[in-house]
Amino acid sequence: MSAPKKVLLVTGGSRGIGAATSRLAAKAGYRVAVNYASNEAAATALVEAIEQDGGEALALKGDVGNEADILSMFEKVDRTFGRLDALVNNAGVVDQRARVDEMSGARLERMMRINVIGSMLCAREAVKRMSTSHGGKGGAIVNISSIAARIGGPGEYVDYAASKGAIDSFTIGLAREVAAEGIRVNAVSPGIIDTEIHASGGQPDRIERMRHFVPMQRAGTAEEVAAAILWLLSDEASYTTGANLEMGGGR
Ligand code: NAP
Repeated sequence: MSAPKKVLLVTGGSRGIGAATSRLAAKAGYRVAVNYASNEAAATALVEAIEQDGGEALALKGDVGNEADILSMFEKVDRTFGRLDALVNNAGVVDQRARVDEMSGARLERMMRINVIGSMLCAREAVKRMSTSHGGKGGAIVNISSIAARIGGPGEYVDYAASKGAIDSFTIGLAREVAAEGIRVNAVSPGIIDTEIHASGGQPDRIERMRHFVPMQRAGTAEEVAAAILWLLSDEASYTTGANLEMGGGR
């Protein structure tokens, strides 16, 4: 009898880096819970494409900036798949270009609520299910950070960069906290990746403008990031925890 398939939840798994991760994970044999915030059409199309390829996926609507949504998302994974083996904390937002002296409290609150608190709450729910100290079988978490945490995002979005700095600290701390409980926690820090996030922050031309500052002179692809995420989730990375893999094309 073949081993039961592992279950992966990808937050923001319906577009961009999350979608590439969902697709690659399904190909690797995971059953994938594809979370999204509002674009149901994109999530449904991705789930259908995965199923047509012979994979198994479930679209899960929920705002990671809302604790009740997170709880019901994990409960749906429990009911549908009956197990959880891995989490990719990928859902994240940017905002319009602004200096710190122009930022409203509401903007900062949204940024931290989605990017930081959302990732921490999802990790909490995953740990409750995967930690051997809670009766789980272990698992893996990959947090999506950004090289912005190191560069700081001056004049563009220091708030976003700071939210990813928080993700970096959280990755180290949680990795050490649950290392003896069968859970590995790692991060990837992409540079400029060709997705729709730049347009949603009001900068549709950002890649063309910024790619000259990248030593490789190009943006990365969502698939390149997904490959690193899948490796960190896999048993091949069995002694890797608390790591943060930069993928900035040399930047
Ligand atoms: P994207 O193309 O804009 O896709 C965002 C995904 O997240 C969509 O599936 C979206 O769902 C979902 N989402 C947004 N807000 C959400 C919320 N509150 N709750 C649940 N889901 C939510 O983004 P991306 O470029 O792939 O970025 C993914 C991650 O990589 C983010 O954490 C981002 O900060 C990080 N990153 C990106 C880059 C880059 O250059 N692209 C670089 C460094 C780091 P809907 O379709 O429903 O909106």
